[in-house]
Amino acid sequence: METTLIKELEQKQWYTLSGQDITRLLNSNSEQGLSASEIAKRQEQFGKNELIAKSGKSPIVRFLLQFNQPLLYILLIAGAIKALLGEWVNAGVIWGVTVINAIIGFVQESKAESALAALASSVQTDAIVLRDGQKVKVSSTEIVPGDLVMLASGDKVPADLRLLKANNLQINESALTGESVASQKQTRPISEDAPLADRKNMAYGGSFVTAGQGLGIVVATGNNTETGRISQLIEKSPNLSTPLTRKFDKFSRTLLYIILGISALTFAIGLGYGYSWVEMFEAAVALAVSAIPEGLPAVVTITLAIGVSRMARRHAIIRKLPAVETLGSATVICSDKTGTLTENQMTVQSIWAGGQDYQVTGSGYTPEGEITSENSDDPQDNLALQECLKAGFLCNDSHLEVKDNFWSVVGDPTEGALIAVARKAGYSASELEETTPRLDVIPFESELQYMATLHQNTNDVSENNIIYIKGSVEAILNHSHDCLDSQGNLCSLNKETVHQQAELMAEEGLRVLAFAKKSLDNSSIEHQNVESGLIFLGLQGMIDPPRAEAIRAVKACQSAGIQVKMITGDHASTAKAIAQSMGIQKHHEVQAFTGQQLAQIEDSQLATAVEDGVVFARVAPEQKLRLVEALQAKGEVVAMTGDGVNDAPALRQADIGIAMGRTGTEVAKEAADMILTDDNFASIEAAVEEGRTVYQNLLKAIAFILPVNGGESMTILLSVLFMRELPILALQVLWLNMVNSIAMTVPLAFEPKSHHVMQRPPLPHNHPLLSRNLLKRILVISLFNWILIFGVFEWIKQSTGEINLARTMAIQALVVGRIFYLLSISQVSRSILLRLRENRRYFPDSKALGIGILCTIILQIIFSQWSLMNQLFATAPLNINQWIFCFLIGLLMIPLAILVNRFDPFD
Ligand code: ADP
Ligand code: MG
Repeated sequence: METTLIKELEQKQWYTLSGQDITRLLNSNSEQGLSASEIAKRQEQFGKNELIAKSGKSPIVRFLLQFNQPLLYILLIAGAIKALLGEWVNAGVIWGVTVINAIIGFVQESKAESALAALASSVQTDAIVLRDGQKVKVSSTEIVPGDLVMLASGDKVPADLRLLKANNLQINESALTGESVASQKQTRPISEDAPLADRKNMAYGGSFVTAGQGLGIVVATGNNTETGRISQLIEKSPNLSTPLTRKFDKFSRTLLYIILGISALTFAIGLGYGYSWVEMFEAAVALAVSAIPEGLPAVVTITLAIGVSRMARRHAIIRKLPAVETLGSATVICSDKTGTLTENQMTVQSIWAGGQDYQVTGSGYTPEGEITSENSDDPQDNLALQECLKAGFLCNDSHLEVKDNFWSVVGDPTEGALIAVARKAGYSASELEETTPRLDVIPFESELQYMATLHQNTNDVSENNIIYIKGSVEAILNHSHDCLDSQGNLCSLNKETVHQQAELMAEEGLRVLAFAKKSLDNSSIEHQNVESGLIFLGLQGMIDPPRAEAIRAVKACQSAGIQVKMITGDHASTAKAIAQSMGIQKHHEVQAFTGQQLAQIEDSQLATAVEDGVVFARVAPEQKLRLVEALQAKGEVVAMTGDGVNDAPALRQADIGIAMGRTGTEVAKEAADMILTDDNFASIEAAVEEGRTVYQNLLKAIAFILPVNGGESMTILLSVLFMRELPILALQVLWLNMVNSIAMTVPLAFEPKSHHVMQRPPLPHNHPLLSRNLLKRILVISLFNWILIFGVFEWIKQSTGEINLARTMAIQALVVGRIFYLLSISQVSRSILLRLRENRRYFPDSKALGIGILCTIILQIIFSQWSLMNQLFATAPLNINQWIFCFLIGLLMIPLAILVNRFDPFD
């Protein structure tokens, strides 16, 4: 049988066969699905359902590409010059540095790529399949040929399917066909010559369900799918360039020209003074090498990678690396309400039916409590109330579960609340399923704001079938004509009264749902069946408390100069009440706009309205895109959350699109830059905090590394101009710039976030890499470094006449100064300041810093005390007095570091 199955699978024209034939051929069952034993067998036979992407560039090519950097060209040329002069050790070390750089870059890049890929795949794609007659949720990798997969709006199709059922099913196959309009699916066989785009009875893996539902049988998995066959085209590696790395590239290119210019100038001037060619090549190479911050690229990638993993630990998964940085400059966060700002723990608290008010006791989903009222009829006698509860129970796709006496909802919390309240009134699932079995359903969609189910009335066979509908007050009232009174008689509906009643509930922050019914002489329903003639039954209002941590996060955002805006499909008054209670406001009052109002505002005025509004209620997903665009037109950097299929365009347009990891659809996740694994607003705030810290640490690294290059190049330039001997040689410069810089700068990437990182406004989007303050700081320290190198060298040379010793001591003194400068940049200096000024204790996590400094000290001792290093780098061993001398000179950095700490690099 196995061989036949494989043979069947190779015959790829499934679309020409009928559903029954296929099910038979695949040894499956269209009611039950596959059995557990059969699945295990097939999983072994066919392997995992995943695309094994052909790797893009070969590792060798990727390694060679690492040399494609302007600054490395200079080093390669410098090495070549040294080789021409016959200085093979020098040439070897310079080339060695470029190779080390390429290796670090290569390893870092691969690590960052695989980390991002691993994070992205940790957000699993799930699929609902029918196995052994049960609906189960499985990871899409476990699907096998013959499985029955259920599709719903928002799903990513997990494998190639031949559709057996399609209910208004629309699928976007643009990735395969290039057609951006979703294709309407059906189940009839199709002629053999139909091109892929016309095979309306197939759903191809990797495409997205944009509307409706369906059921399909898997005919191909993994690399056998249509997408798998063209997956050579799919580049798996994520893009690693970010705004900052691009700024950095630009900066390197400018630096390249400056270095080339100055080297040429030095060369010319030197020759003019009568130096020999060899000496001038020597100087030009030393100058070029000294000006290049060889260690910086490695530090940049390491810092970004650390940022990504810190964010992941705080429930924010980065899908696109630039988001790490963009997050730091976000100025507006547009957030969903339900589930993100609130707990999504719904409990029905009040009901209005048959013109009467009721309160409900109890909390959570525990079906214990009472429906009470002071002066209304007994709940049992109010027939409208009973119908309203029944509608809530039946028009429902969720159920309650109890574990260790704790009740929770499987499915939509809104629906869970409706079940809990109906159970409080005595309804039970088994009884209702028997007396009123479900025939058909129109699932809830945000745009339409209602859900409807069709039920058979077994109590009275002569009666028609009955539709129960629940949805937003507006949606239900729009289609209702009559209402039910407490005696169960039809009455004429006063929509004004209902709206007022709903408003009263909403003002208390309750989420309000309306209920209706209608009889129908048919065994299936379409949208048009519920678009008129509904009988209004009543309203139910449920609380959904704000998340405590979200309230704190909103506050943190506000003090960080980030506006928070609430975007919701819920009622304006409900949203406003919740915004108020969470402190989401601007100018002391909550300005709310509804989707309807937004639709009437012209584009030119929208930007202003959007600036002032903090609550946008009854917003259709399409309007989110308009909101993002309007905010961006105002120059804002916008973070926007989303979960539905139709949120994708807004998520793509936003500077940072954020998808919900738990409730979000696959479509939304694909479009997003970042995924929240806990759907919590507080995690967005945490990510912003980490994003800002990354940026800060990168600036610290730049502020730390560049002054040494500045000091070195000044030294060499001036020595040539004044015809002095070089105080520092090319190889020694390389030691400082690579070994020493990396050992001392990598710890900066681990710096904990600073105290006030969320107390300053966001950095402007176009903030230059080297701000004025950063330049000042670099200049001052560079000058000091130059004086130090030059001074120590001349002093020791004069007093001892030993040139190697003079050079070594200049370098050691420089490194001592560097250690103090590093401490002043790090959080350690802040903890000392706090202790001195405010007598406050603050112990930042400085382990990385300690390790970095320890390594530095060991490396420097090796550098001067080991005879091999003496030969290689032309250094000389120091005695104890000379070490103390270097230490004392290095101490001079302290007052200077205190002075430059006034130049805040972020201004
Ligand atoms: P949000 O998630 O922003 O609160 P939704 O789009 O989920 O907004 O819901 C919008 C409105 O649709 C709700 O206010 C409610 O009236 C209605 N609604 C929500 N969930 C359901 C559901 N499962 N069935 C019927 N109507 C619903
Ligand atoms: Mg919702």
